[in-house]
Amino acid sequence: MVIKGILFDFDGTLTVPGAINFLEIKASLRCPPDMPILEFIESLDKYEQQKAYKLLDRHEEKAARISLPAQGAESVIRELKNENLPLGIITRNSLDSVLLALNNFDNICVDDFAIILTRDNVKPKPDPAGVLIAASKMGILPEELLLVGDFSLDIMAGHAAGAKTALIVYDATRTIPPHPEPDYKINHLRELIPIVSSSKPK
Ligand SMILES: [Mg+2]
Repeated sequence: MVIKGILFDFDGTLTVPGAINFLEIKASLRCPPDMPILEFIESLDKYEQQKAYKLLDRHEEKAARISLPAQGAESVIRELKNENLPLGIITRNSLDSVLLALNNFDNICVDDFAIILTRDNVKPKPDPAGVLIAASKMGILPEELLLVGDFSLDIMAGHAAGAKTALIVYDATRTIPPHPEPDYKINHLRELIPIVSSSKPK
């Protein structure tokens, strides 16, 4: 199947991993280390939820200000754009934090993306809703969309939507919770270029 669009996870995929310290956020929220943050917050009562989202927003803002483009992110995005491939972002973070972090990119801006899906406008990954919305916005089938992410929830969401998936592994020592087998495993965003071109009919 020809790849006709790419949907990127944001933190740790298009940005250098580690700007967000999830363990620190979890500790400050009293979220169990093995539970995803958003699901933990949703399990709280309304009052505690509001407090928790405020705290999360503050942590995300701090992280977004210091986050930097992942190696090759800007040039690879430019090349994919030159191929007329629609690109999107899907993240469990807030839209504000994505916009803030994009300020730290020199040559990439919000207009380079056909769609930006965040927890503010879509049910978060691993739910496939965002992936399906992205494919529809790009005017392509879910199986023509490649989802690129660095975490289990990314691969789960892409897989559940019927999209192709690529797991990017910057640090081989990092443990990732169980997830479906991705279609591709890459160590650098540049590897996306041959993946896209080899999907085209000869
Ligand atoms: Mg990520």
